[in-house]
Amino acid sequence: MPKKKGGSTSTLIIRYGARAGEVAAVAARELAEGLAKMLGGGASAASDPALDARTILVSSGAEAPVGPNKMSDDGFQISRPGRDSIAITSGNERGLLHGAYDLMERVGARFVAGAPANFPEASRDALAKLKPYAVTPAFKRRAMASDIMTWNYTHADRLAQHLKFDREFIPWMARRGINGFEYIRHAHDTKQRIDELTALYIAYGVGVEYGGHVLQILMPREQFALHPEYFPAGKNGERSAKGNLCASNPDALRMVTDGALRYARDCPENELLHIWGADVREGAWCRCAQCKKLSPHLQYMTIVNAVGAALASAGSTPVAYLAYHDTLDPDRKLRPLPNVHFEWAPRERCYIHAIDDGDCAINPRYLESLKRYLEIFDGRGHVFEYYADAILFGGIGFATPTTIARDLRAYKGLGIDSICNLTFGAYSVLAYPLNLEAFVRGTRSSKFSASGLIAECAANRHPKAADAMGKAYRHVERAASMVLDYADVMCPYEMTTEHAAAKKPLIEKAFAQFEHAVKLANATHEKYGDALAGAEEELWSYSFEVLSGIGDYIRAHQEGGIVKHTLGQGAIAQIAGALEHIHNIEADRKGTWGAYDLEWLREMWLDGLRKNLGAFQIKMGKLL
Ligand SMILES: [Zn+2]
Ligand SMILES: [Zn+2]
Repeated sequence: MPKKKGGSTSTLIIRYGARAGEVAAVAARELAEGLAKMLGGGASAASDPALDARTILVSSGAEAPVGPNKMSDDGFQISRPGRDSIAITSGNERGLLHGAYDLMERVGARFVAGAPANFPEASRDALAKLKPYAVTPAFKRRAMASDIMTWNYTHADRLAQHLKFDREFIPWMARRGINGFEYIRHAHDTKQRIDELTALYIAYGVGVEYGGHVLQILMPREQFALHPEYFPAGKNGERSAKGNLCASNPDALRMVTDGALRYARDCPENELLHIWGADVREGAWCRCAQCKKLSPHLQYMTIVNAVGAALASAGSTPVAYLAYHDTLDPDRKLRPLPNVHFEWAPRERCYIHAIDDGDCAINPRYLESLKRYLEIFDGRGHVFEYYADAILFGGIGFATPTTIARDLRAYKGLGIDSICNLTFGAYSVLAYPLNLEAFVRGTRSSKFSASGLIAECAANRHPKAADAMGKAYRHVERAASMVLDYADVMCPYEMTTEHAAAKKPLIEKAFAQFEHAVKLANATHEKYGDALAGAEEELWSYSFEVLSGIGDYIRAHQEGGIVKHTLGQGAIAQIAGALEHIHNIEADRKGTWGAYDLEWLREMWLDGLRKNLGAFQIKMGKLL
């Protein structure tokens, strides 16, 4: 685009269709603000009755008509209708928003998790030389998920803290092309959404989804006094108010489907209803005379199909059936209705290797289960991943971008076009920024490679110490590649004795990696007053001490008598004491999860370690 005479740059006009909704208006406004910051000369956004609702036009002079719009869904195209104009066209308004941010990235903007949006000065030439291109995201649904309890919504101050984070995180998701957010409700939750945020998700084109472990809520426990027959029977035939419901009782099924229809009515913005059972292994399903003939899968399918049929006749959303724990390996007899999708959550998989890595001793079984689900559900499925799961990883700061890049290619290769990633608010941004970055890149482009990502994250999070912090992140990545093949990092006793014996030397190597990372973060913090590096120093010190405690705990298990007891208790005390480092991190950086949830979780964690000191291979229920 030409400069005006006299050297000043002309004002850019960003126009969007007058019939478009809020998302296109946000796209035009953010594009105007971002381009003005980078290019100078001013930019303004205005609506135009002559423009289609799925078009944004950037111009600095004469205009030419925009060509035909061939994009669908969130796909977007950047074209040049004339010498002085650039058009963004998309299948929907959300795609306009993603196209606007992508265009700014091509001019030099960077939106890295945990770093402020960066709009470096750029020449108008960067815009003038931009060649036309089109982007069709690799995955249609690219979502984040969170347990709603982590908002700590019963405490006004904690909720306010989380909302402050959300008001930055929701725009960040949009900037990186994320188009969905899944709330996970547990049986004790009194909410299915955070009302204060609904308008913000809608404005930024992030679709919201509700549900979670809600079967126990849809079958209200107070019904037990009047109708014990609605509830699951145990081995001895006795009904219990715990667990899910009796899948053979038509009145119980009706009660659940009525509840699901109420969800759909009360929350018209919901895009996918997640109907999951109690979050435990075994024991939640019914063994009455009728149900006993059905596997847990088939009992669960009966219920989800009943909900699916009710929602289909009400013209509502599809329903997700959770493949997880008891239901991870599919039952060939499953017959889902057309609006019932599976949601596959491979929580106990290995994160050292990609899901399709044949060299892994663990993942091939998971990949096989996924393939069978795809067959049974005729391809209708969603993957639920744990790349930023602070519980699974024990709050330790790990990084697995290479695994994520290959995973996403493998999922895409199987024909899966829907994936979400579990997050724990600000804590995930502090502890798993590389994984968030890998997820957003890989869900947009399957050509994405992990190399370069670390350097770029380090440069944006630590502009004054990019090299040192890039090295630190590589140490964290190496530590992850030594540890993450026994699922819950917090539960080393779930390993077989052989696996634990092989793991111990690797854990010792891993905590040495954290020692290096701590030194690099400390130097960066001291030299430049880099507060984020200070927080990472504490996080990695915590990670070092926890892993060192876990190493000792495994060693204690291999000993006997008083040595086992002394070493084991010492290991548990070290893990308990490591939390002091998290206390030293500022509230906004560690979020409500780091400030409050990790506290109660620690008690469960230490309890498990104490109880299992002498007994490896005991399985416990887990939180999703
Ligand atoms: Zn039953
Ligand atoms: Zn593996």
